[in-house]
Amino acid sequence: MASPVVSSTAMTGAAATWLIRGARVLGSDPADIRIADGVIAEIGRDLDHDVATARLDADGLIALPGLVDLHTHLREPGREDAETVLTGTAAAALGGFTAVHAMANTDPVADTAGVVEQIWRLGRQAGRCDVQPVGAVTAGLGGSRLAELGAMADSAARVRVFSDDGRCVHDAVLMRRALEYVRAFGGVIAQHAQEPRLTEGAQVNEGEISGRLGLTGWPAVAEEAIIARDCLLAAHVGSALHVCHVSTAGSVEILRWAKAKGWQVTAEVTPHHLLLTEERAVGYDPVFKVNPPLRTAEDVAALRAGLADGTIDCVATDHAPHPLEDKETEWVAAAFGMTGLETALRVVHEALVEPGLLDWAGVADRMSARPAAIGRLTGHGRLSPGEPANLVLYDPSPREAVDPAAHASRSRNTPFAGMVLPGRVMATFLRGNPTVLDGKLAR
Ligand SMILES: [Zn+2]
Repeated sequence: MASPVVSSTAMTGAAATWLIRGARVLGSDPADIRIADGVIAEIGRDLDHDVATARLDADGLIALPGLVDLHTHLREPGREDAETVLTGTAAAALGGFTAVHAMANTDPVADTAGVVEQIWRLGRQAGRCDVQPVGAVTAGLGGSRLAELGAMADSAARVRVFSDDGRCVHDAVLMRRALEYVRAFGGVIAQHAQEPRLTEGAQVNEGEISGRLGLTGWPAVAEEAIIARDCLLAAHVGSALHVCHVSTAGSVEILRWAKAKGWQVTAEVTPHHLLLTEERAVGYDPVFKVNPPLRTAEDVAALRAGLADGTIDCVATDHAPHPLEDKETEWVAAAFGMTGLETALRVVHEALVEPGLLDWAGVADRMSARPAAIGRLTGHGRLSPGEPANLVLYDPSPREAVDPAAHASRSRNTPFAGMVLPGRVMATFLRGNPTVLDGKLAR
């Protein structure tokens, strides 16, 4: 497989006009993509170009709209030892993302207009990826009173997604009020569905393995009960619910039922829940400790089927970087979470495309168009003339081991370390400017 040839003018990344030759747009037959002034000018066969145009030979590469993540923990402000907006957006660009939603569980919590605007500005300064802040649902993630949802929505960051992610909005009255509040401006409440009393001290999926390991189990019903309740609440008030990181077969069934009713319910699944099972916990390696936990092979199969048939709308990484000292400790003391931005597309390739469950157009839908729509983002999700030139070029042919040392994230807690996965992101463009070229950061 030829690696992309980039002309010398292109290496500066300053060219206003690009011609990408022979890319398979959404996996279809090779075509050229011309980018001018940050916009996709045309897509077609044998497009003319003048010598001043930067040229990228994309022979054998698949072109997808830039990926959009609904669930990223950038950790800034507060935990810059784990990640910053600058390092997190570098990881995002290397993974093929052009937009990420930054979760609210920072320090201070993103629960005011001031904090969300700070995060939004840091994203703009980094310039590698659009950073769309998620606002907290409750003040300080405290679960007792609503945060300033309206002020965050009206701020420069124009927040539309609200979540206490990491914690569940378990008070049904608060959840109802939040759903009612965001309805006025077309917002959505993204719920970390986890009944807190049923998961006190929980460490791994509840079942035979939790018993064998002597670790407190995490029952599927704790997730499913909240999803069922919130679907009913969303229907009752006529508002939009998004369910974060669905992890059980039962959750998929409940979502299928809610969608059949025509309710405004959407859901995401993480790459790790699509590929890994609870068996990974058997060695007590905390790199596999995550919230919600890795589940059974039956759950993984149901999640894949649900994503393939559209019951689950999209893939979201739940990229959760942690410094070494928070992960390399005994299981019970270790932090929950895994990094995911730099491996997401490769994992989806392995888990969904290789078995024939999704084609590349399906991947574009589940990793770009749908999450952009759920996040109320414009300018992302479509690879077609007239749209902002946000796109990723992906080489599907290599199979290589994941090397955390090569990652741009400040943290190294990837559960895929050493695992052989297909594919490689070769280039990412944000509004016509390359953020990644030849598989390396371009800015
Ligand atoms: Zn969560």
